[in-house]
Amino acid sequence: MNNFPFLQIEGKSFPCSCGRTHRIHTEKTILGNNVLPQLSHILRGMSFRKVLLVFDENTYQAAGENVERELKQGGFEIIPCLLYKKQELFYLEPDEDARGQIGEHLHQEPEVLIAIGSGVINDLVKFIAHRVGLPFVVVATAPSMDGYSSPGAPMMVSGYKVTYSATPPRVILADLGILSQAPMPLIHAGFLDLLGKVIANADWVMRRLLFREDFCDAIWNMTKENLSRTVKEAENLPQRDHQAIYELSLALLNSGFSMDMIGDSRPASGAEHLIAHYLEIMALHRGMNPSLHGLRVGTATVLMHRIYRRFLQEMPMFDWNRKLNSQEKLETLKMHFGPLFPLVEETARKKLAITVPEIIKEKSFQEKLRGAIEEKLLAIPDPLTVLQKAQAPQSLEALGFPSPMIRDALLFARFLRERATILDLLDQVGMLDEYVDWVLQKP
Ligand SMILES: [Zn+2]
Ligand SMILES: [Zn+2]
Repeated sequence: MNNFPFLQIEGKSFPCSCGRTHRIHTEKTILGNNVLPQLSHILRGMSFRKVLLVFDENTYQAAGENVERELKQGGFEIIPCLLYKKQELFYLEPDEDARGQIGEHLHQEPEVLIAIGSGVINDLVKFIAHRVGLPFVVVATAPSMDGYSSPGAPMMVSGYKVTYSATPPRVILADLGILSQAPMPLIHAGFLDLLGKVIANADWVMRRLLFREDFCDAIWNMTKENLSRTVKEAENLPQRDHQAIYELSLALLNSGFSMDMIGDSRPASGAEHLIAHYLEIMALHRGMNPSLHGLRVGTATVLMHRIYRRFLQEMPMFDWNRKLNSQEKLETLKMHFGPLFPLVEETARKKLAITVPEIIKEKSFQEKLRGAIEEKLLAIPDPLTVLQKAQAPQSLEALGFPSPMIRDALLFARFLRERATILDLLDQVGMLDEYVDWVLQKP
């Protein structure tokens, strides 16, 4: 497998050195200059005539207007769907309201859905298209996250974040001219979402060694190469340099494909994403500005990187015989999550039932674990410096989150998902509170 799987093997299944057969569902991805004029030709090739075009005010200006003109000239029947955000929200959210806005147009029986946008619009259209069994195409407007090509669609349901499985787009069009003109916070968000991959993969390889979870080295090698090429361009991102935007977009697309190849978000999401999800849910509950997904992920990565480095040093000293009092923990969670508790309860129970295998007490195993995790962390040895070079926000505080909320995120975010992270190991040995207080101390 080379660094650019989607250019050669998209739409196909292929055997991998990890022993699994991977598949990329997206059939065509075009990343380059002046790609929009190819859309008519592609749609005609797939025999579509009637399209539902989904955009918001911003993405209409960025790309929607041009797409609409192209398709009209091409003789397509267009059903326009302009999404509007609720007044009280800071951003358009993938909630009941937004899903309803798209759903209202389905009685006009489109043959294909076209998402014009990035994060939320892509997620919404992916989710709806999957639900109604229609294909979808995305015209990217910002290199702001890696969800374009992924098989998941995070939705807000009753104010809680649920990630549903959903079929990736048939076609992705990513025009460098459009992507490089995206608002800088969105470009930073994509870059910071990418930095989180070191923690996601450290968590993943930890589960491989401790819990025998399957892990794909070929995918990790691709991720590492993409990280290295993009991080080299960090200083050029603020200038919207085309090469920097190209590397970033390519890395984000590949990250999405890696999730499609594995079938879930494990190659791309670990403790740093849970912290980001927790802060988003809590911010929306409190009517606060949740900031952008990638910005939360990247700044949480700085904290998790330090936590991991300290863990690797202190691992031999921990008391791995310690037993957790699950009932006591559940009571704490009930108090903490309040009305959200029923939504996390099942996951929390499963998580509290995880027992760390005895092998972790063996010195030789600890050496192996340390080596595997260190190799992941060293893909970005110092995330904070990288953020500085990109002139991006460098802390969760800088995004507007108060310290007690950040502390809670580090302590409780792990209950949002069943898969184990480093935060769970630290709790197992009774060190989580101490580590969290340490990492949040001002130097
Ligand atoms: Zn593989
Ligand atoms: Zn992400």
